[in-house]
Amino acid sequence: DPGYMTSDKAYRIVLAGDAAVGKSSFLLRLCKNEFKLHSSATLGVDFQMKTLVVDGEPVLLQLWDTAGQERFRSIAKSYFRRADGVLLLYDVTCEKTFLNVREWVDTIEDVSQEDIPIMLVGNKCDLRQDQANCVPTSYGEKLAMTYNTLFCETSAKDGSNILEAVLHLARQVTKQA
Ligand code: GDP
Repeated sequence: DPGYMTSDKAYRIVLAGDAAVGKSSFLLRLCKNEFKLHSSATLGVDFQMKTLVVDGEPVLLQLWDTAGQERFRSIAKSYFRRADGVLLLYDVTCEKTFLNVREWVDTIEDVSQEDIPIMLVGNKCDLRQDQANCVPTSYGEKLAMTYNTLFCETSAKDGSNILEAVLHLARQVTKQA
């Protein structure tokens, strides 16, 4: 992977959001192009490396999965402190995870030194057609406007928008550096 060799800096991206919104699945789709319907909850924080080409330049990302640590806010905080960007996920089929976004943003802004770029991600959008009472796309868009963050809806299951979400965030992160 030539990008890996030529990039001198790895940008730290942290995946945040409630348990079971699909953080591990998002990473698995992005890095291995796989999906597991019954993924086992990973305990402990793990990271994956991924090189993307952003505006013709290779960008090396170190993507941290905080899955399993959601209840341990103090641990999550130490990851945000050193993050260059955050992928903040909620589950479009689970309103509670959307309502908790506010708390996640507060936590992130509390500990990060400057305004770090956040991509708000409504995941599991493949389930929208089968399930009633999903969080409307416009709600996600509005919330993102309130916080001045990026927004998109993704599916780790069918892969839609996964790469795009990370590319948009990577573009912001490299601009700020
Ligand atoms: P995490 O706790 O945030 O890391 O969530 P997981 O990645 O473990 O996902 C929780 C459950 O949701 C698993 O059963 C996944 O298979 C499922 N899941 C994750 N992303 C999607 C998605 O985009 N669509 C669908 N249909 N299921 C998903």
